[in-house]
Amino acid sequence: MPSSMSARDRRPVGPGAEGADPAEELASLLESQDVVREVMKGFLHLGTGETGRVIDDALARLGAHLDVDRSYVFVFDPPEMDNTHEWCRAGVSPESPSLQRVPIDAVAGWLDELIDGDVVVIEDVPGLPDERGIERDHLVSQGILSLLVVPMLSLGELVGLVGFDSVRRHRRFVRAEIGLLRSLADVITSVLVRQRSDEKAAVAEQRLAALTTYSTDFIMIVGDDQLIRFASPSCEHLGLVPDELIATSWFDHVHPDDVREIFRLTRPMADQQLAERVIRLPDFRVRTGRGGWCWMAGSISDVRHDGVVDGLVVNAHDVTDRRGVQEQLAYEALHDPLTGLGNRTLLTERLHDVCRRSSAGSSTVALVFLDLDRFKLVNDGHGHAVGDEVLVEVACRLATVVRSGDTVIRFGGDEFVVLLDAVDEPDEVDQLVRRLEQALDPPVRVGDVEYRVSASMGVVLGSGDVLDPIAMLRDADTAMYRAKESGRGRAVVFDEPLRTKVLRKLTLLHRLPEALDGGAIEVGFQPVVELRTGRVIGAEALVRWNDEVLGVVSPGELVTAAEEAGLIARLTQELCGASTRAAASWPDGLGVALNLSLAQLTHPDLIPTISTALGRHGLDASRLCVEVTESSLMDDQTNAVWALGLLREAGIRTALDDFGTGYTSLAVLRELPVDVLKVDRAFVRGVHRDERDRRLVAAVIGLAGDFDMVTLAEGVENVEQRSALVAAGCSYGQGYLFGRPMSSDAFRATLGDVLERPSVT
Ligand code: C2E
Ligand code: MG
Ligand code: MG
Repeated sequence: MPSSMSARDRRPVGPGAEGADPAEELASLLESQDVVREVMKGFLHLGTGETGRVIDDALARLGAHLDVDRSYVFVFDPPEMDNTHEWCRAGVSPESPSLQRVPIDAVAGWLDELIDGDVVVIEDVPGLPDERGIERDHLVSQGILSLLVVPMLSLGELVGLVGFDSVRRHRRFVRAEIGLLRSLADVITSVLVRQRSDEKAAVAEQRLAALTTYSTDFIMIVGDDQLIRFASPSCEHLGLVPDELIATSWFDHVHPDDVREIFRLTRPMADQQLAERVIRLPDFRVRTGRGGWCWMAGSISDVRHDGVVDGLVVNAHDVTDRRGVQEQLAYEALHDPLTGLGNRTLLTERLHDVCRRSSAGSSTVALVFLDLDRFKLVNDGHGHAVGDEVLVEVACRLATVVRSGDTVIRFGGDEFVVLLDAVDEPDEVDQLVRRLEQALDPPVRVGDVEYRVSASMGVVLGSGDVLDPIAMLRDADTAMYRAKESGRGRAVVFDEPLRTKVLRKLTLLHRLPEALDGGAIEVGFQPVVELRTGRVIGAEALVRWNDEVLGVVSPGELVTAAEEAGLIARLTQELCGASTRAAASWPDGLGVALNLSLAQLTHPDLIPTISTALGRHGLDASRLCVEVTESSLMDDQTNAVWALGLLREAGIRTALDDFGTGYTSLAVLRELPVDVLKVDRAFVRGVHRDERDRRLVAAVIGLAGDFDMVTLAEGVENVEQRSALVAAGCSYGQGYLFGRPMSSDAFRATLGDVLERPSVT
């Protein structure tokens, strides 16, 4: 066999050269027939793995019979071919080892004939004509004198060749022999082709088995009856035994909560009412062989048209880890990391949910907004770590006293919300509030320290189709502030009057900026007199706002709204300007007193605002007095005292308003940078007829004297009160007896009437 051959234009020599002896040919044929018959028998009952041996045997017997020196099979694997089988006569060296992966092009010169089904016969290699010189020289170099090559054709395709070489002598092949060798080549071809396809099928099957075993996908074929017909070996990853799944309904292995949806989706496919052949399945749980559940994602395909599969193929993979991460993320999005309670987002979701359900029916829902009292002191005084521990304990206690369907939320900071889904009994909310209070009653212990915790609660109830989650939260918050205002540690239910108040507040906040810009906010001046002589020494500036929509807005309402609206500095400027402008227009020596809330007093802009106003109107600082109520001092004593001190340093006088209504201790009073004590109207009211009031006022006056303060009585309405106050030693007074708050001009006009207020001796 040539290892390469380039001659192209040449014709095969033979078969059956001219002039063969017919008798010799017949004898040879008969003999060959016997040998070929014997050889064929070997192919008849071919067992597994015997192919190679039988082919080798056939080549040996035929080679020996034909008296050639080498017989062989080449199998094509384009673009190469392999010498798969070879027989050599004793003394002739085998070539097979060097003839593997040989380019098919090596026999390019013979291909046309072989493809056409012709054999290639060269009886006299050295005698080949010169036009086939390359082919001749190549064969001669291998010592080949004659050769015969038979094509192996399968379904018209050349798949290899069977060849016979002679190296010792020239060999003639008779026509009949060639016919027999063709038959043999056909048998070898069919055996090899079948072996090759069997091998391919086995490899494919092995590959499939490996894929389904090692694949993380879980594959099942189910019938129209939903019974499993095939389960991939990979089911073992789930602890399942594939054989045990056969003939069970695949729905039996799916979580009951997921079956309904999968059934709904796949039923039209099973009933052949679906155009699509593949449906993506929603995540579903499958019972594992270990008793738990495993989350799967996948699809179901209709492969009933394929005769081999003939079923619905469920292809799914384990997504438990992904679900775990998703669930963790979802949990974190809706929960407070510190306390583990739900967060504001969860509340909004639940609230919408509850309100929607309540609107559909007529059930009542309740919301309790809870804010810990003075929690800032724990944080500021003991650190945030302690504060956190207290919050965790509080959260835990709250969560244990609510009903199972109710929701406890950490709204933020020290604020919690309890949402009661469906309130059935009228006193259910009261009972809950009581349980919440009791839960917070025992002190919270952190380390060696015990903390007393109380909460102010705002409760809002709602039912029917008017429920609005945002309004409910706002109302509960309002009620909670009401609870704080009225002394903390209590619950306030949001009701109709409160709703009216809220509406009024909203209108007020809305109209305030315009009122400030439009000069609608005025100042009234109430005369302050020396009680004994009736001499006017100045006036107290009192804010006035009479709005066309809201009616009379009290100073308290206005100041609180301005604080909430962030307009307090603006209001201070307005009032300070009006007061100093007015005082500057009065005779020298008359002062003006300006009321300031705690927020106004401690505002960083206060001193600059006052200085600007004094400067603009040319008023001496000593003619201005600033009043702060005793109760407002209590809320932030440190800063208030510091601010009062600054005012005093700037030459401004200070007064403690409504004295007697707060709880200033003597120790604190002594330290206060205050020039005037204003005795509250409550004590003045009975001073002329009630001995206790008289003594109390006398005590306050004595005290003020001890601390170098002067006293000013508020709300003096009649001469008896005035006389009693003078008798008790009170220096100054104001009240309707001397004049109501009035405009600056009206005040100036009254100054001439001082004599009409006779002196009291
Ligand atoms: P206050 O500073 O104690 O002012 C005295 C209040 O008593 C004034 O009420 C005044 O009109 C009223 N009053 C005066 N004489 C009598 C009387 O003889 N009988 C009775 N029954 N009442 C009398 P008003 O103007 O309603 O002010 C209430 C409070 O609002 C003030 O109490 C003061 O604390 C606050 N306030 C007033 N104006 C301002 C202001 O411009 N800024 C701030 N922050 N608070 C102000
Ligand atoms: Mg006042
Ligand atoms: Mg007062």
